[in-house]
Amino acid sequence: MAEYLEERRGNYTGEADAVVLPANSSEVASVVKICADSNIPIVPQGGNTGLCGGAVSKTGQIILNLRRLNRITDVDPINDTMTVEAGCILADIQQAASNIERYFPLSLGAEGSCQIGGNLSTNAGGINVLRYGNAREQVLGLQAVLPDGQIWSDLNELRKNNTGYDLRNLLVGSEGTLGIITAAVLKLYPQPRQVETAFVALKDLDSCLELLTAARIDSGGTLSSFELIPKLGIELAEKHVPGCRNPLSTSSDWHIIMVYSSAANGTDLRLALENTLANALDNEIISDAVISASETQTTQIWKIREGLVEAQQMAGERYTYDVSVKISQVPEFIERAGMLAQSKMTGIRPYAFGHVGDGNIHLSLFQPDDVDGTVFRARLPEFDELIFNLVHEYGGSFSAEHGIGLLKLEEMSSYKDPAGLSVMRAIKQAVDPFNIMNPGKVLP
Ligand SMILES: Cc1cc2nc3c(=O)[nH]c(=O)nc-3n(C[C@H](O)[C@H](O)[C@H](O)COP(=O)(O)OP(=O)(O)OC[C@H]3O[C@@H](n4cnc5c(N)ncnc54)[C@H](O)[C@@H]3O)c2cc1C
Repeated sequence: MAEYLEERRGNYTGEADAVVLPANSSEVASVVKICADSNIPIVPQGGNTGLCGGAVSKTGQIILNLRRLNRITDVDPINDTMTVEAGCILADIQQAASNIERYFPLSLGAEGSCQIGGNLSTNAGGINVLRYGNAREQVLGLQAVLPDGQIWSDLNELRKNNTGYDLRNLLVGSEGTLGIITAAVLKLYPQPRQVETAFVALKDLDSCLELLTAARIDSGGTLSSFELIPKLGIELAEKHVPGCRNPLSTSSDWHIIMVYSSAANGTDLRLALENTLANALDNEIISDAVISASETQTTQIWKIREGLVEAQQMAGERYTYDVSVKISQVPEFIERAGMLAQSKMTGIRPYAFGHVGDGNIHLSLFQPDDVDGTVFRARLPEFDELIFNLVHEYGGSFSAEHGIGLLKLEEMSSYKDPAGLSVMRAIKQAVDPFNIMNPGKVLP
Protein backbone atom coordinates (compact mmCIF):
# COMPACT_ATOMS: atom_id res chain seq x y z
CA MET A 1 0.00 0.00 0.00
CA ALA A 2 3.09 2.22 0.27
CA GLU A 3 2.45 4.45 -2.76
CA TYR A 4 -1.00 5.38 -1.44
CA LEU A 5 0.23 6.08 2.09
CA GLU A 6 3.21 8.22 1.24
CA GLU A 7 2.75 11.94 1.78
CA ARG A 8 4.66 14.01 -0.73
CA ARG A 9 6.20 16.53 1.63
CA GLY A 10 6.89 14.05 4.42
CA ASN A 11 4.77 16.10 6.84
CA TYR A 12 2.46 13.19 7.70
CA THR A 13 2.74 9.43 8.02
CA GLY A 14 -0.13 7.63 6.34
CA GLU A 15 -1.63 4.39 7.60
CA ALA A 16 -4.78 2.56 6.52
CA ASP A 17 -6.65 -0.69 7.05
CA ALA A 18 -7.10 -1.12 3.29
CA VAL A 19 -6.74 0.58 -0.06
CA VAL A 20 -9.66 -0.02 -2.40
CA LEU A 21 -9.55 0.53 -6.14
CA PRO A 22 -13.09 0.45 -7.52
CA ALA A 23 -13.54 0.43 -11.31
CA ASN A 24 -16.71 2.47 -11.75
CA SER A 25 -19.21 4.64 -9.88
CA SER A 26 -21.42 1.67 -8.90
CA GLU A 27 -18.46 -0.02 -7.27
CA VAL A 28 -17.60 3.24 -5.48
CA ALA A 29 -21.20 3.38 -4.23
CA SER A 30 -21.06 -0.26 -3.04
CA VAL A 31 -17.88 0.41 -1.06
CA VAL A 32 -19.36 3.57 0.47
CA LYS A 33 -22.55 1.69 1.49
CA ILE A 34 -20.53 -0.99 3.25
CA CYS A 35 -18.49 1.68 5.02
CA ALA A 36 -21.64 3.66 5.96
CA ASP A 37 -23.23 0.50 7.42
CA SER A 38 -20.11 -0.31 9.43
CA ASN A 39 -19.06 3.25 10.26
CA ILE A 40 -15.70 2.97 8.51
CA PRO A 41 -14.16 6.33 7.57
CA ILE A 42 -13.13 6.76 3.94
CA VAL A 43 -10.32 8.92 2.60
CA PRO A 44 -10.92 9.62 -1.10
CA GLN A 45 -7.70 9.82 -3.06
CA GLY A 46 -6.72 10.90 -6.55
CA GLY A 47 -3.12 11.24 -7.74
CA ASN A 48 -1.95 11.92 -4.16
CA THR A 49 -0.13 15.09 -5.27
CA GLY A 50 -2.01 17.40 -2.88
CA LEU A 51 0.14 19.61 -0.68
CA CYS A 52 -2.05 19.88 2.44
CA GLY A 53 -2.36 16.27 3.62
CA GLY A 54 -6.00 15.97 2.47
CA ALA A 55 -5.49 12.45 1.11
CA VAL A 56 -3.61 11.15 4.17
CA SER A 57 -5.33 8.37 6.11
CA LYS A 58 -4.80 6.65 9.45
CA THR A 59 -5.44 3.28 11.05
CA GLY A 60 -9.14 2.42 11.17
CA GLN A 61 -9.74 4.21 7.84
CA ILE A 62 -9.63 3.07 4.23
CA ILE A 63 -8.26 4.86 1.20
CA LEU A 64 -10.54 4.84 -1.82
CA ASN A 65 -8.38 5.71 -4.81
CA LEU A 66 -10.08 6.63 -8.08
CA ARG A 67 -7.27 5.69 -10.49
CA ARG A 68 -9.29 2.93 -12.23
CA LEU A 69 -12.09 5.33 -13.12
CA ASN A 70 -9.98 6.64 -15.96
CA ARG A 71 -12.22 6.72 -19.03
CA ILE A 72 -13.04 9.74 -21.16
CA THR A 73 -16.62 8.82 -21.97
CA ASP A 74 -17.61 11.64 -24.34
CA VAL A 75 -15.98 14.43 -26.31
CA ASP A 76 -18.41 16.88 -27.86
CA PRO A 77 -16.98 19.60 -30.14
CA ILE A 78 -20.40 21.23 -30.76
CA ASN A 79 -21.15 21.76 -27.08
CA ASP A 80 -17.42 22.20 -26.38
CA THR A 81 -17.55 19.68 -23.54
CA MET A 82 -15.81 16.53 -22.43
CA THR A 83 -17.24 13.96 -20.02
CA VAL A 84 -14.59 12.23 -17.94
CA GLU A 85 -14.34 9.86 -15.03
CA ALA A 86 -12.75 11.25 -11.89
CA GLY A 87 -9.55 9.21 -12.11
CA CYS A 88 -8.47 10.62 -15.49
CA ILE A 89 -5.00 12.16 -15.31
CA LEU A 90 -5.10 15.90 -16.02
CA ALA A 91 -2.46 15.70 -18.80
CA ASP A 92 -4.52 12.99 -20.59
CA ILE A 93 -7.55 15.30 -20.55
CA GLN A 94 -5.48 18.16 -22.00
CA GLN A 95 -4.24 15.80 -24.74
CA ALA A 96 -7.73 14.50 -25.56
CA ALA A 97 -8.93 18.10 -25.94
CA SER A 98 -5.97 18.93 -28.17
CA ASN A 99 -6.76 15.87 -30.36
CA ILE A 100 -9.97 17.61 -31.46
CA GLU A 101 -8.37 21.07 -31.65
CA ARG A 102 -9.82 22.18 -28.35
CA TYR A 103 -8.14 23.37 -25.20
CA PHE A 104 -8.58 22.37 -21.58
CA PRO A 105 -6.84 25.20 -19.72
CA LEU A 106 -6.28 23.78 -16.23
CA SER A 107 -2.50 23.41 -16.02
CA LEU A 108 -0.18 22.81 -13.06
CA GLY A 109 3.18 21.27 -12.23
CA ALA A 110 1.65 17.96 -11.12
CA GLU A 111 -0.49 17.55 -14.27
CA GLY A 112 1.22 14.30 -15.28
CA SER A 113 -0.01 12.53 -12.14
CA CYS A 114 -2.89 14.45 -10.50
CA GLN A 115 -6.45 13.36 -11.34
CA ILE A 116 -9.34 15.55 -12.40
CA GLY A 117 -11.36 14.37 -9.37
CA GLY A 118 -8.53 15.64 -7.14
CA ASN A 119 -8.32 18.90 -9.12
CA LEU A 120 -12.02 19.54 -8.65
CA SER A 121 -12.02 18.46 -5.01
CA THR A 122 -9.22 20.92 -4.26
CA ASN A 123 -10.48 23.57 -6.71
CA ALA A 124 -6.97 23.65 -8.14
CA GLY A 125 -5.50 26.82 -9.67
CA GLY A 126 -2.30 26.79 -11.71
CA ILE A 127 -0.78 28.93 -14.42
CA ASN A 128 -3.83 29.90 -16.50
CA VAL A 129 -6.19 31.16 -13.81
CA LEU A 130 -5.99 34.82 -14.73
CA ARG A 131 -7.50 34.06 -18.14
CA TYR A 132 -9.68 30.96 -17.57
CA GLY A 133 -10.36 30.77 -13.83
CA ASN A 134 -9.83 27.99 -11.26
CA ALA A 135 -10.91 24.35 -11.61
CA ARG A 136 -14.35 25.42 -10.36
CA GLU A 137 -14.87 27.46 -13.53
CA GLN A 138 -14.07 24.49 -15.79
CA VAL A 139 -16.95 22.24 -14.80
CA LEU A 140 -20.58 22.11 -15.95
CA GLY A 141 -21.88 18.84 -14.56
CA LEU A 142 -20.83 16.44 -11.84
CA GLN A 143 -21.47 12.95 -10.55
CA ALA A 144 -20.62 11.98 -6.98
CA VAL A 145 -21.22 9.25 -4.45
CA LEU A 146 -22.65 10.74 -1.26
CA PRO A 147 -21.73 9.54 2.25
CA ASP A 148 -24.78 7.24 2.46
CA GLY A 149 -23.82 5.51 -0.80
CA GLN A 150 -26.35 7.26 -3.06
CA ILE A 151 -25.11 8.25 -6.50
CA TRP A 152 -25.94 11.91 -7.23
CA SER A 153 -25.75 12.22 -11.00
CA ASP A 154 -25.94 15.62 -12.62
CA LEU A 155 -23.70 15.15 -15.65
CA ASN A 156 -25.36 17.96 -17.56
CA GLU A 157 -23.79 19.98 -20.36
CA LEU A 158 -25.82 23.10 -19.68
CA ARG A 159 -24.36 26.59 -19.67
CA LYS A 160 -27.47 27.85 -17.89
CA ASN A 161 -29.05 25.83 -15.12
CA ASN A 162 -30.57 27.95 -12.40
CA THR A 163 -32.37 25.40 -10.27
CA GLY A 164 -31.72 26.10 -6.62
CA TYR A 165 -28.73 25.33 -4.40
CA ASP A 166 -25.63 24.57 -6.44
CA LEU A 167 -24.48 21.14 -5.26
CA ARG A 168 -21.79 21.07 -7.92
CA ASN A 169 -20.09 24.09 -6.41
CA LEU A 170 -20.52 22.67 -2.93
CA LEU A 171 -18.61 19.53 -3.86
CA VAL A 172 -15.93 21.39 -5.80
CA GLY A 173 -13.32 22.46 -3.25
CA SER A 174 -14.76 20.27 -0.47
CA GLU A 175 -11.61 18.07 -0.44
CA GLY A 176 -13.51 14.80 -0.18
CA THR A 177 -15.43 15.76 2.96
CA LEU A 178 -18.92 15.77 1.39
CA GLY A 179 -18.73 12.97 -1.17
CA ILE A 180 -16.59 11.23 -3.74
CA ILE A 181 -16.55 12.82 -7.19
CA THR A 182 -16.81 10.03 -9.76
CA ALA A 183 -17.29 11.91 -13.06
CA ALA A 184 -17.50 15.42 -14.48
CA VAL A 185 -18.53 17.33 -17.59
CA LEU A 186 -15.75 19.78 -18.40
CA LYS A 187 -15.77 22.92 -20.53
CA LEU A 188 -13.50 23.09 -23.56
CA TYR A 189 -12.15 26.19 -25.28
CA PRO A 190 -10.77 26.89 -28.76
CA GLN A 191 -7.21 25.65 -29.03
CA PRO A 192 -4.81 28.62 -29.18
CA ARG A 193 -3.18 28.88 -32.61
CA GLN A 194 -0.73 31.50 -31.48
CA VAL A 195 1.15 31.29 -28.20
CA GLU A 196 3.80 33.92 -27.53
CA THR A 197 5.95 33.49 -24.43
CA ALA A 198 8.35 36.06 -22.99
CA PHE A 199 10.88 35.90 -20.18
CA VAL A 200 11.33 39.37 -18.74
CA ALA A 201 13.74 40.96 -16.27
CA LEU A 202 11.89 43.54 -14.15
CA LYS A 203 13.47 46.82 -13.10
CA ASP A 204 12.20 46.09 -9.57
CA LEU A 205 9.39 44.21 -7.87
CA ASP A 206 6.91 47.12 -7.96
CA SER A 207 7.25 47.23 -11.75
CA CYS A 208 5.40 43.93 -12.06
CA LEU A 209 2.13 45.80 -11.50
CA GLU A 210 2.78 48.31 -14.29
CA LEU A 211 3.80 45.50 -16.63
CA LEU A 212 0.71 43.46 -15.75
CA THR A 213 -1.60 46.43 -16.33
CA ALA A 214 0.00 47.18 -19.71
CA ALA A 215 -0.10 43.51 -20.72
CA ARG A 216 -3.78 43.15 -19.86
CA ILE A 217 -4.63 46.09 -22.11
CA ASP A 218 -2.15 45.50 -24.97
CA SER A 219 -2.97 41.80 -25.24
CA GLY A 220 -6.66 42.52 -25.83
CA GLY A 221 -7.63 39.93 -23.23
CA THR A 222 -5.21 37.26 -24.47
CA LEU A 223 -2.82 37.40 -21.50
CA SER A 224 -3.00 33.87 -20.07
CA SER A 225 -0.03 33.57 -17.70
CA PHE A 226 1.93 36.02 -15.58
CA GLU A 227 4.37 34.22 -13.29
CA LEU A 228 6.86 35.79 -10.91
CA ILE A 229 10.36 34.30 -10.71
CA PRO A 230 12.96 35.51 -8.16
CA LYS A 231 16.68 35.63 -8.89
CA LEU A 232 17.31 33.05 -6.14
CA GLY A 233 14.83 30.75 -7.91
CA ILE A 234 16.82 30.86 -11.14
CA GLU A 235 20.08 30.30 -9.25
CA LEU A 236 18.67 27.28 -7.39
CA ALA A 237 17.10 25.81 -10.55
CA GLU A 238 20.39 26.20 -12.46
CA LYS A 239 22.31 24.60 -9.58
CA HIS A 240 20.03 21.66 -8.82
CA VAL A 241 17.96 20.86 -11.93
CA PRO A 242 19.78 19.67 -15.06
CA GLY A 243 18.91 21.64 -18.19
CA CYS A 244 17.70 24.82 -16.40
CA ARG A 245 19.31 27.96 -17.74
CA ASN A 246 18.53 31.66 -17.44
CA PRO A 247 17.42 32.70 -20.95
CA LEU A 248 18.78 36.22 -20.31
CA SER A 249 22.43 37.15 -19.95
CA THR A 250 21.67 40.18 -17.78
CA SER A 251 21.01 39.99 -14.06
CA SER A 252 17.92 41.17 -12.20
CA ASP A 253 16.29 40.41 -8.85
CA TRP A 254 12.85 39.69 -10.31
CA HIS A 255 11.56 38.14 -13.53
CA ILE A 256 8.23 37.45 -15.17
CA ILE A 257 7.12 34.72 -17.55
CA MET A 258 4.23 36.13 -19.54
CA VAL A 259 2.14 34.50 -22.25
CA TYR A 260 -0.21 35.93 -24.85
CA SER A 261 -2.29 33.22 -26.49
CA SER A 262 -5.19 33.24 -28.89
CA ALA A 263 -7.15 31.06 -31.27
CA ALA A 264 -7.92 34.02 -33.52
CA ASN A 265 -6.78 34.12 -37.13
CA GLY A 266 -5.33 37.32 -38.50
CA THR A 267 -4.11 38.96 -35.31
CA ASP A 268 -0.41 39.32 -34.72
CA LEU A 269 0.14 38.45 -31.07
CA ARG A 270 3.90 38.55 -31.40
CA LEU A 271 3.71 42.15 -32.53
CA ALA A 272 1.41 42.95 -29.61
CA LEU A 273 3.86 41.35 -27.16
CA GLU A 274 6.83 43.12 -28.79
CA ASN A 275 5.00 46.43 -28.39
CA THR A 276 4.27 45.79 -24.73
CA LEU A 277 7.89 44.96 -24.04
CA ALA A 278 9.29 47.84 -26.14
CA ASN A 279 7.12 50.34 -24.25
CA ALA A 280 8.08 48.72 -20.94
CA LEU A 281 11.77 49.09 -21.85
CA ASP A 282 11.26 52.75 -22.87
CA ASN A 283 9.42 53.45 -19.61
CA GLU A 284 12.09 51.61 -17.59
CA ILE A 285 9.61 49.11 -16.19
CA ILE A 286 11.78 46.24 -17.40
CA SER A 287 15.53 45.99 -18.03
CA ASP A 288 15.67 43.10 -20.50
CA ALA A 289 13.41 40.55 -22.20
CA VAL A 290 13.39 37.71 -24.66
CA ILE A 291 10.43 36.42 -26.66
CA SER A 292 10.67 32.72 -27.35
CA ALA A 293 11.57 31.93 -30.96
CA SER A 294 10.82 28.19 -30.87
CA GLU A 295 8.98 25.49 -28.98
CA THR A 296 12.32 24.35 -27.55
CA GLN A 297 12.95 27.82 -26.15
CA THR A 298 9.42 27.98 -24.70
CA THR A 299 10.02 24.63 -23.00
CA GLN A 300 13.31 25.99 -21.59
CA ILE A 301 11.55 29.05 -20.20
CA TRP A 302 8.90 26.96 -18.44
CA LYS A 303 11.59 24.56 -17.24
CA ILE A 304 12.92 27.37 -15.04
CA ARG A 305 9.44 27.80 -13.51
CA GLU A 306 9.08 24.08 -12.80
CA GLY A 307 12.77 23.75 -11.85
CA LEU A 308 12.60 26.37 -9.14
CA VAL A 309 9.87 24.40 -7.36
CA GLU A 310 11.87 21.17 -7.60
CA ALA A 311 15.10 22.90 -6.59
CA GLN A 312 13.56 24.18 -3.36
CA GLN A 313 13.39 20.63 -2.05
CA MET A 314 17.13 20.25 -2.50
CA ALA A 315 18.06 23.58 -0.95
CA GLY A 316 17.55 22.78 2.73
CA GLU A 317 14.81 23.29 5.28
CA ARG A 318 12.15 25.90 4.62
CA TYR A 319 8.77 27.17 5.70
CA THR A 320 6.30 27.40 2.79
CA TYR A 321 3.14 29.46 2.32
CA ASP A 322 0.51 29.48 -0.45
CA VAL A 323 -1.30 32.77 0.11
CA SER A 324 -3.12 35.43 -1.87
CA VAL A 325 -3.67 39.17 -1.55
CA LYS A 326 -5.20 41.76 -3.85
CA ILE A 327 -3.08 41.94 -7.01
CA SER A 328 -2.20 45.58 -6.32
CA GLN A 329 -0.73 44.58 -2.93
CA VAL A 330 1.52 41.76 -4.15
CA PRO A 331 4.87 43.67 -4.20
CA GLU A 332 4.25 45.38 -0.87
CA PHE A 333 3.20 42.10 0.74
CA ILE A 334 6.28 40.26 -0.54
CA GLU A 335 8.61 43.00 0.69
CA ARG A 336 6.99 43.28 4.11
CA ALA A 337 6.84 39.51 4.61
CA GLY A 338 10.56 39.24 3.77
CA MET A 339 11.55 42.07 6.08
CA LEU A 340 9.45 40.78 8.98
CA ALA A 341 10.89 37.28 8.60
CA GLN A 342 14.45 38.60 8.47
CA SER A 343 13.91 40.73 11.55
CA LYS A 344 12.78 37.60 13.42
CA MET A 345 15.64 35.40 12.23
CA THR A 346 18.85 36.87 10.86
CA GLY A 347 19.95 35.22 7.65
CA ILE A 348 16.59 33.67 6.76
CA ARG A 349 16.19 33.79 2.97
CA PRO A 350 12.77 34.77 1.57
CA TYR A 351 11.87 33.24 -1.77
CA ALA A 352 8.63 34.42 -3.36
CA PHE A 353 7.31 33.17 -6.66
CA GLY A 354 3.99 32.23 -8.15
CA HIS A 355 0.91 33.17 -10.06
CA VAL A 356 1.10 36.89 -9.28
CA GLY A 357 -1.23 37.72 -12.17
CA ASP A 358 -3.99 36.48 -9.88
CA GLY A 359 -2.48 37.65 -6.58
CA ASN A 360 -1.22 34.18 -5.58
CA ILE A 361 2.18 34.16 -3.90
CA HIS A 362 4.11 31.03 -3.02
CA LEU A 363 6.42 32.22 -0.29
CA SER A 364 9.25 30.11 1.10
CA LEU A 365 11.56 31.10 3.93
CA PHE A 366 14.84 29.20 3.76
CA GLN A 367 16.89 28.12 6.74
CA PRO A 368 19.95 30.34 7.37
CA ASP A 369 23.28 28.52 6.93
CA ASP A 370 24.21 28.96 10.58
CA VAL A 371 20.91 27.78 12.13
CA ASP A 372 20.55 24.12 13.01
CA GLY A 373 17.72 22.23 11.22
CA THR A 374 16.02 21.14 14.46
CA VAL A 375 16.08 24.66 15.85
CA PHE A 376 14.71 25.98 12.56
CA ARG A 377 11.87 23.43 12.44
CA ALA A 378 10.87 24.17 16.02
CA ARG A 379 10.27 27.84 15.21
CA LEU A 380 7.70 27.12 12.47
CA PRO A 381 4.66 28.17 14.59
CA GLU A 382 6.16 31.63 15.17
CA PHE A 383 6.62 32.16 11.45
CA ASP A 384 3.18 30.78 10.62
CA GLU A 385 1.69 33.35 12.96
CA LEU A 386 3.82 36.12 11.48
CA ILE A 387 2.92 35.39 7.86
CA PHE A 388 -0.76 34.53 8.38
CA ASN A 389 -1.30 37.64 10.53
CA LEU A 390 0.21 39.70 7.75
CA VAL A 391 -2.04 38.02 5.16
CA HIS A 392 -5.01 38.72 7.42
CA GLU A 393 -4.01 42.37 7.77
CA TYR A 394 -4.13 42.65 3.96
CA GLY A 395 -7.53 40.95 3.80
CA GLY A 396 -5.90 38.08 1.91
CA SER A 397 -6.37 34.31 2.01
CA PHE A 398 -4.24 31.92 4.07
CA SER A 399 -4.78 29.25 1.39
CA ALA A 400 -4.84 30.55 -2.17
CA GLU A 401 -5.02 27.35 -4.22
CA HIS A 402 -3.80 24.29 -2.30
CA GLY A 403 -6.73 23.98 0.10
CA ILE A 404 -6.93 23.13 3.79
CA GLY A 405 -6.53 19.36 4.29
CA LEU A 406 -4.82 18.72 7.61
CA LEU A 407 -2.26 21.44 7.16
CA LYS A 408 -4.36 24.56 7.65
CA LEU A 409 -6.89 23.47 10.30
CA GLU A 410 -5.51 25.92 12.86
CA GLU A 411 -5.74 28.78 10.40
CA MET A 412 -9.36 27.83 9.68
CA SER A 413 -10.06 28.34 13.39
CA SER A 414 -8.09 31.56 13.64
CA TYR A 415 -8.89 33.40 10.43
CA LYS A 416 -12.06 32.03 8.85
CA ASP A 417 -15.16 34.06 9.53
CA PRO A 418 -17.01 32.28 12.43
CA ALA A 419 -20.42 32.57 10.76
CA GLY A 420 -19.05 31.03 7.56
CA LEU A 421 -17.42 28.25 9.54
CA SER A 422 -20.63 27.40 11.39
CA VAL A 423 -22.55 27.16 8.09
CA MET A 424 -19.83 24.85 6.77
CA ARG A 425 -20.23 22.67 9.89
CA ALA A 426 -24.02 22.58 9.44
CA ILE A 427 -23.61 21.49 5.81
CA LYS A 428 -21.15 18.76 6.77
CA GLN A 429 -23.53 17.53 9.50
CA ALA A 430 -26.46 17.45 7.06
CA VAL A 431 -24.64 15.67 4.24
CA ASP A 432 -22.42 13.37 6.30
CA PRO A 433 -24.08 12.95 9.73
CA PHE A 434 -21.86 10.02 10.72
CA ASN A 435 -18.69 11.83 9.66
CA ILE A 436 -17.30 9.01 7.53
CA MET A 437 -16.18 11.11 4.55
CA ASN A 438 -12.58 12.25 5.03
CA PRO A 439 -13.06 13.03 8.74
CA GLY A 440 -10.72 15.51 10.39
CA LYS A 441 -9.98 17.38 7.15
CA VAL A 442 -10.96 20.97 6.25
CA LEU A 443 -13.13 21.58 9.35
CA PRO A 444 -11.29 22.12 12.63
C1 LIG B 1 4.87 19.84 -8.39
C2 LIG B 1 3.50 20.24 -7.94
C3 LIG B 1 2.93 21.40 -8.44
C4 LIG B 1 1.65 21.79 -8.04
N1 LIG B 1 1.12 22.93 -8.57
C5 LIG B 1 -0.10 23.31 -8.20
C6 LIG B 1 -0.68 24.49 -8.75
O1 LIG B 1 -0.06 25.22 -9.53
N2 LIG B 1 -1.94 24.81 -8.38
C7 LIG B 1 -2.65 24.03 -7.49
O2 LIG B 1 -3.81 24.38 -7.21
N3 LIG B 1 -2.14 22.93 -6.96
C8 LIG B 1 -0.88 22.54 -7.28
N4 LIG B 1 -0.34 21.42 -6.73
C9 LIG B 1 -1.12 20.64 -5.73
C10 LIG B 1 -1.90 19.43 -6.32
O3 LIG B 1 -1.33 18.98 -7.50
C11 LIG B 1 -3.35 19.79 -6.54
O4 LIG B 1 -3.95 20.06 -5.31
C12 LIG B 1 -4.18 18.70 -7.25
O5 LIG B 1 -5.41 19.28 -7.61
C13 LIG B 1 -4.44 17.46 -6.39
O6 LIG B 1 -4.96 16.42 -7.22
P1 LIG B 1 -4.77 14.89 -6.83
O7 LIG B 1 -5.49 14.06 -7.82
O8 LIG B 1 -3.33 14.57 -6.67
O9 LIG B 1 -5.52 14.83 -5.43
P2 LIG B 1 -5.06 14.12 -4.06
O10 LIG B 1 -3.79 14.69 -3.59
O11 LIG B 1 -5.12 12.65 -4.19
O12 LIG B 1 -6.24 14.60 -3.09
C14 LIG B 1 -6.39 15.96 -2.74
C15 LIG B 1 -7.69 16.13 -1.95
O13 LIG B 1 -8.82 15.85 -2.78
C16 LIG B 1 -9.56 14.74 -2.27
N5 LIG B 1 -9.94 13.93 -3.44
C17 LIG B 1 -9.13 13.44 -4.42
N6 LIG B 1 -9.87 12.84 -5.37
C18 LIG B 1 -11.17 12.96 -4.99
C19 LIG B 1 -12.41 12.57 -5.57
N7 LIG B 1 -12.48 11.93 -6.73
N8 LIG B 1 -13.56 12.88 -4.88
C20 LIG B 1 -13.52 13.53 -3.71
N9 LIG B 1 -12.36 13.93 -3.13
C21 LIG B 1 -11.22 13.65 -3.76
C22 LIG B 1 -8.64 14.04 -1.29
O14 LIG B 1 -9.38 13.39 -0.27
C23 LIG B 1 -7.82 15.19 -0.76
O15 LIG B 1 -8.53 15.84 0.26
C24 LIG B 1 0.94 21.01 -7.10
C25 LIG B 1 1.52 19.84 -6.59
C26 LIG B 1 2.77 19.46 -6.99
C27 LIG B 1 3.35 18.19 -6.43
